[in-house]
Amino acid sequence: MSMDEKKLEASSPDELAERDFLDKLEGAFRSNIHVAVFLRNLIHRLAEKALMRDIGRIVIMDFCGTHEWSIVHFGIRSLMPRNVELVAGPGCPVCVTPSKYIEYAVKLSFEGITVYTYGDAYRLKSLRPINGAYSLQEARSDGASVQVVTSFIDAIRLANMSGRESVFLGIGFETVAPGYAVAFKKNIVPGNLAFLSQVKLTPPAMRLSLELLMKEKLDYRFGVIAPGHVSTITGAKAWSFASEEMGIPVVIAGFEPIDVLIAIAEILRQIVNNESKTVIEYRRAVTWSGDEEAQRNINEVFTTIDDAWRGIGIIPRSGLELSDRYASNNAFEKYSLKRITSDDWEYDLPRGCKCGLVTLGKAKPTDCPLFMKACTPDRPIGPCMVSVEGTCSIWARFGGGGLADEVARSLEVY
Ligand code: SF4
Repeated sequence: MSMDEKKLEASSPDELAERDFLDKLEGAFRSNIHVAVFLRNLIHRLAEKALMRDIGRIVIMDFCGTHEWSIVHFGIRSLMPRNVELVAGPGCPVCVTPSKYIEYAVKLSFEGITVYTYGDAYRLKSLRPINGAYSLQEARSDGASVQVVTSFIDAIRLANMSGRESVFLGIGFETVAPGYAVAFKKNIVPGNLAFLSQVKLTPPAMRLSLELLMKEKLDYRFGVIAPGHVSTITGAKAWSFASEEMGIPVVIAGFEPIDVLIAIAEILRQIVNNESKTVIEYRRAVTWSGDEEAQRNINEVFTTIDDAWRGIGIIPRSGLELSDRYASNNAFEKYSLKRITSDDWEYDLPRGCKCGLVTLGKAKPTDCPLFMKACTPDRPIGPCMVSVEGTCSIWARFGGGGLADEVARSLEVY
């Protein structure tokens, strides 16, 4: 945006200076303490303005596990004014993979089929045991054939080498989908490797989380820090429904602490000025349209389905399934596995686990009585404690729910 355009948009010289400063910040990150202090002060000034304009509490949801990591790791929550609350959203694909699909993978592994998956999914526990095993890790220790891989390409290579009947448990968001799609399009997935798709689409989950929060907190104002990684594929346009239809400011942010602070400042600026726009802060990686070739590949290989999210339910058009053309590699077809529908969805979290509420931004990990008592990163009970991107795991490892939380609460900073 040119200086002239900014002048037209700004309502005061102060605002013009703030906007101009924010625009010049690209490239100034983690180590820039002066920028961090400026942003912290700007956030407090904007929050004060919000109070003066009778705007009550402001809830900003970060959607991506990596944003929550930055917020907790760098203590950003403790920098917030009293009327601004940061909540984590459903940004962890491992956390929302239904128990039933873990059970399917464990069952297949006991039937002599090699199951490949990522490290986080390997530890993910199901609600019910299969042959006494709650996870692929436990199945492997009981002799089942399970291998951890770091990519789908690894699974393809290993399945080619072994020639064994195999399944890849493909968990992830839009960021991993293009890699899967290209492998199928290039016809390099061997016939002995089936694909158990657990690829989920994030905008429908964000819409649901926001709708539920807005219903519950009627007099609050909301903002969203949208995921940077996902947006490299989807483009910023994927989130514009929140600003255009729901009146919620959205900022697609990078993952450095300064990125997150800029995003918070921009959201507050919009709220104070009664605006709701979708803004790209992460301009070094994200465009409005995204990676159109990746989008084409995804659309050619996958179809969009109503998908089950663990502890939440069926979210319309929130998952990807291999299209009919690739049916011979579709594990659901090949092994007659039934997809969960709204008729047979059942609550699939362990007793006492509040992961569904944590994932929707309706509870904090510390609201769960099991947090850091029965449920720890070494001995996770619920899925949010398993993955490095899970909110409970992040809070457990970096103090978001420990001493820092206690101190912040006693000081009433959140
Ligand atoms: Fe679930 Fe463990 Fe988090 Fe509690 S602490 S919500 S049991 S993952």
